[in-house]
Amino acid sequence: MPNIVSKKIIIFSGAGISAESGIKTFRDSDGLWENYKIEDICNQYTWEQNYDTVHEFYNQRRLQLADVKPNYAHEIVASIKEKYQDDCIIITQNVDDMFERAGCKDVIHLHGELTKMECMACGDIFSIGYKEFKNTDTCPKCSHTKIKPFIVFFGGSAPYYANMYSAFEHLQNEDSIVVVIGTLGNVIQISANLELVECYKILNNLEISPYIDESQFDKVYYEEATTACDKIEFDISEFWL
Ligand SMILES: [Zn+2]
Repeated sequence: MPNIVSKKIIIFSGAGISAESGIKTFRDSDGLWENYKIEDICNQYTWEQNYDTVHEFYNQRRLQLADVKPNYAHEIVASIKEKYQDDCIIITQNVDDMFERAGCKDVIHLHGELTKMECMACGDIFSIGYKEFKNTDTCPKCSHTKIKPFIVFFGGSAPYYANMYSAFEHLQNEDSIVVVIGTLGNVIQISANLELVECYKILNNLEISPYIDESQFDKVYYEEATTACDKIEFDISEFWL
């Protein structure tokens, strides 16, 4: 019986792929990052009380983003996407724009994007690039003044999770491929999502994660993404016929 879902290549990434570009994460220092508490700057229920601090924090992240560059792993993922086009779905937990700057198109950013802002009145999402947000800045569409970084906060809605789950449907096709790169697998429980699917599975992390069952995977690379990515590209080309 033919599979009802078409085969796809899904590349799912986390902070590990951007670490080699010098981008740090909240989790690098026990939830404290340069003296900000994660609950103050990433909480849907309290962020408006901490409005200035929230913007100060994301302003700094945005400015730092201007100084970093995509690495070889981002470039290889971009070239895989270019080669397989709509057969390849790029999903990332990262809020940086490294994939886009490597030329990768149609990236699903599960947790938002640092270079964008969201108007709290009309819901418009607009680009701010690497600029600081100032309290005098207003929504380009409706001129409202309450603006939120386009980042998924704890307790907030994450609309792109639906895109992820519908992409994961394709993993039921045994001819599909999933590549997991640079994630502990605890924020999104990737191991649980892959448990019952028969597709070809590739894992690349720096080291073993307690949240990922490596026995699920057909290929496992415990090394930097920049050295694993050529092998992953080859594995895909071998399996994808
Ligand atoms: Zn607006």
